[in-house]
Amino acid sequence: MKRFSSFSRTRFSALLSLLCFSACFFAGCGKEEFSLPEDLAPCDREKAMAYAEKCVSFGERPSGSKALFSCGNWIMETLRKIPEAKVSSRTFTESTPAGPITFRNILCRIPGESPDYVIVSAHYDTKKFSSFSFVGANDGASGVSALLLLAETLSRSGKKLPYTLLLVFFDGEECQEEYGPGDGLHGSRHFAANLHEQKGRCRAMILLDMVGDKDLFLTVPTNTHPVLRALLERSAAYRKKSSVAGSFPGGILDDHVPFQKKGIPSIDLIDFSYGEDNVFWHTPEDTLDKISGESMALAADLVLGMLFNMKKYGL
Ligand SMILES: [Zn+2]
Repeated sequence: MKRFSSFSRTRFSALLSLLCFSACFFAGCGKEEFSLPEDLAPCDREKAMAYAEKCVSFGERPSGSKALFSCGNWIMETLRKIPEAKVSSRTFTESTPAGPITFRNILCRIPGESPDYVIVSAHYDTKKFSSFSFVGANDGASGVSALLLLAETLSRSGKKLPYTLLLVFFDGEECQEEYGPGDGLHGSRHFAANLHEQKGRCRAMILLDMVGDKDLFLTVPTNTHPVLRALLERSAAYRKKSSVAGSFPGGILDDHVPFQKKGIPSIDLIDFSYGEDNVFWHTPEDTLDKISGESMALAADLVLGMLFNMKKYGL
């Protein structure tokens, strides 16, 4: 992903009052009854870490690589263990500055009470660097882990979501050289462009990216739908974790943007403060020791809260 403007943690306090206002406004000042099924267990933090470890064990996973293909197969095998899940993949080839690359998006549909659906997504490719080995524990594996965990936790609860859940694991999020019309966001652009008649039934799109930082602080960018932002705030408050739902002082170009352009309410749950001043991002330092199962499990819990309450918020 790419930032639209510079990042400063010191500006968060100024943004806080604005955020409180928007959360209050869109949530009806707490009048909306936010709830979760009593028997919905919190996501398992140890399992979250185990999933991230397995994902990283495939090594560098750039688009078009054998490692990413193997990783994708493991994601599908894991999802197929969920009885309600309908797992599929979509393969396509696009030209990139590094030549044509064949990409594969992985899909998993879990029926809800309505055929209308919500996309919950993450990218599973890692950025390619020639100068060092990049395993993307946070930037790649953490989102995959959170999605797998979310699906499994939901299935174990035996509860149905108000809307059908469509998990999408995007390939080709990372650019080869520079983000542009033919470089980066390949999976999400291809998916959004091919929604066709399914577009009208898509109620929202939730993206998870870099949600594993031990010091989780979601820097939700300005190019996010305000109702989804309010829903995240409420979900974090419900878990008594309001401090993790922060804000980024600008927009971020990420996999949610192609869906926004289609008019679908979208949110980017991203922690773009990975280490002091985001120093671990896209470096050899993005390794398993910097992430925690607790953060990934919390991210999945927050999304489950959003999904169970989305209809009440008018989406
Ligand atoms: Zn990245």
